Amino acid sequence: MSQTHARPGPKSNEWFERAQKFTPGGVNSPARAFNGVGGGAPAFIDHAKGAWITDVDGNDYVDYVGSFGPMILGHADPRVVEAVQTQAAKGLSFGAPTGLEVQLAELITEMVASIESVRMVNSGTEAAMTAVRLSRGYTGRKKILKFAGNYHGHVDALLVNAGSGALTLGIPGSPGVPESVVADTLVATYNDLDSARQAFEQHGDDIACVMVEPVAGNMNCVPPVDGFLEGLRTLCTDYGALLVFDEVMTGFRVHPGCAQAYFGVTPDVTALGKIVGGGMPVGAVGGPAEVMKTLAPTGPVYQAGTLSGHPLGMAAGIATLEQIRGGAVHQAIEPQLDKLLAGLNERAQKHGVPFLTQSAGAMFGMFFTEAKTITRFDEVAACDLDAFSRFFHGLLDNGVYLAPAAFEAAFISRAHDDAAIQATLEAADKAFAAVAA
Ligand code: PLP
Repeated sequence: MSQTHARPGPKSNEWFERAQKFTPGGVNSPARAFNGVGGGAPAFIDHAKGAWITDVDGNDYVDYVGSFGPMILGHADPRVVEAVQTQAAKGLSFGAPTGLEVQLAELITEMVASIESVRMVNSGTEAAMTAVRLSRGYTGRKKILKFAGNYHGHVDALLVNAGSGALTLGIPGSPGVPESVVADTLVATYNDLDSARQAFEQHGDDIACVMVEPVAGNMNCVPPVDGFLEGLRTLCTDYGALLVFDEVMTGFRVHPGCAQAYFGVTPDVTALGKIVGGGMPVGAVGGPAEVMKTLAPTGPVYQAGTLSGHPLGMAAGIATLEQIRGGAVHQAIEPQLDKLLAGLNERAQKHGVPFLTQSAGAMFGMFFTEAKTITRFDEVAACDLDAFSRFFHGLLDNGVYLAPAAFEAAFISRAHDDAAIQATLEAADKAFAAVAA
C-alpha cells in the first residue's frame, strides 16, 4: 500500500530497511509504525520547529502528533531548548537531589489543585504503575478497576482486555502477561457508570483504586459523558477506594490545571507524563501529602529510580509549565482548534464524507462515522477504519502528519498559526476527496 503514496520518501524507506534489521519492526514504540494504516515505512524525522516537522527526505508536515502529546508549545520552543542546553552544560545526572526537582514539584502543586506532594518518575507507564502500587499499599486492598479502551502504559496489571459483557475480570492483553497478574484487574465500560457500580457492588471491599483517563485519548478522543467522572468520585468515596486520574495525556493539555480542573472533579491520585517533561522522558505521581507519604522513604511502599527527577527533564518541564500556568497557551490554542475543526467538518461535508470531530482543551479526535457523538469504545471500533487509513495517507501525501492509527487522539500546539491551519485544510480537501473516491 505504501508504494502507491508519495510520502514518506526514499531516505525514510532506506532508514526503515536498516531499522528493521536491528530493531523489532523498525521502531522503538509500536505506535510509530504504519501497521494500522496499511503498512510501509514511517517518516523518519530529521528536525522540527513550531507546528512543523521535517523528515529525512526534506518533506515538511504540519504535525498533529506532537511527540504523542508533550509538545503543546510547539517543537523546539526557544525557552525549553535554552533551559535544557544550560542544564546540560552543568552536568547530566547526579543521583543526588537538585533544586530543579523542587521547582517542578512546586509548579505542579501550584497548578494541580489535588496535588500536595509529588514523586518524579521517567515515563507515564512508571507513573501509572506507581499509582497502582501506592493505591494498593495505602488501602491494603488488591483489586483495581479500569475501563476498556483506556491505556495506562505497558504496565502488566493494566495491560488488560475487556472480555465480553459490560463488566469482566481481566484477560491478559498481551502474551507475556500471566493471568495471575491480571486476576485482580476488573474491566468496566468507559462512560458507563452502571458497569463501574456493578464492580463495586461485587468487589467493593477489595477495590484499591479506580484508574481512569478523564478524557479517553487512546480510543481516539472521547470526553466523559455528564456525570461519569462525578459518579466515579462518589463510588470511590463511598467504598473507600482511591480515584486515580491518569492524566498522562490530559495533564496540562486539557486545561492548565489538568482535566480535573476542566471537569471540576477531584481525584485522590494523579498520574502525569508527556507535557510535564516538556518533551523529555518524565512522569510524575501526585496527590494529598497524607497519601503520598506512603511511598518510601517516608512510608513502606517501595518506589525508586536511578534517573528519576533527571535534571534535563526537570529543566524542560519547568520551562514548559511556566509558560502554561497563566492560561495564555490554552487561550491561544482555543480559537485555532475551533477554526481547524470547523474547516475539517466543512470539507468533509463538501465531499459527502460522514465525519465527526470531538475535542477537549487542546486534544481532538476525528471519526469516520454517521454518528453525532461517540462515547463508548465499541462505537469507536465501529467507525470506518479504512476511510481513516485513506484520509491519513491523503494528508501525509499533502504535508500533514497524524498519528498512524484511528485510535489515537490528535494534538494541537500554540505554534499552530493560521498558516499551519490553512495548509492543513488545503491538504484535508484533497484527503477527503480521496476518501470519497
Ligand atoms: N497513560 C496514558 C493516558 C497514556 O496516553 C500513555 C501513553 O500514551 C501512558 C499512560 C504511558 O506513558 P509512556 O508512554 O510515557 O510510558
